[in-house]
Amino acid sequence: MTDCLFCKIVAGTIPSNKLYEDDEFLVFHDIHPIAPVHFLLVPKLHVAGLSDCRLEHEDMLGRLLLLAPKLASASGLDGFRTMINTGRSGGQEVFHLHVHVFGGGQTLPKT
Ligand code: 5GP
Ligand code: ZN
Repeated sequence: MTDCLFCKIVAGTIPSNKLYEDDEFLVFHDIHPIAPVHFLLVPKLHVAGLSDCRLEHEDMLGRLLLLAPKLASASGLDGFRTMINTGRSGGQEVFHLHVHVFGGGQTLPKT
């Protein structure tokens, strides 16, 4: 997926402000944060979005979600919001699956 921005970030050809990395995931701070803490959990495997996930991705998705509270806590958040934009009409702009985690500052309003 040479044309994918997040694949390039995973490959290191585009720099990012990295928060966490293991064999399966890269986590980095969003370039345009919407909260004092705002990072993106990105599987290294290219999957375009949640609608493209299949049964074979089930375990990866579980591990992806379990990473969110660990890194939120390590970032000093006692609460946080997750967001997965899916599809253009769902607000997705980068078509490589990612989970937004954000929080800090004021209590987030209900949506
Ligand atoms: P989406 O709208 O696809 O759910 O979210 C994409 C997110 O990626 C946006 O919040 C945007 O600010 C972030 N983003 C886009 N380009 C870059 C980049 O080059 N570096 C980083 N760190 N974040 C980016
Ligand atoms: Zn990709």
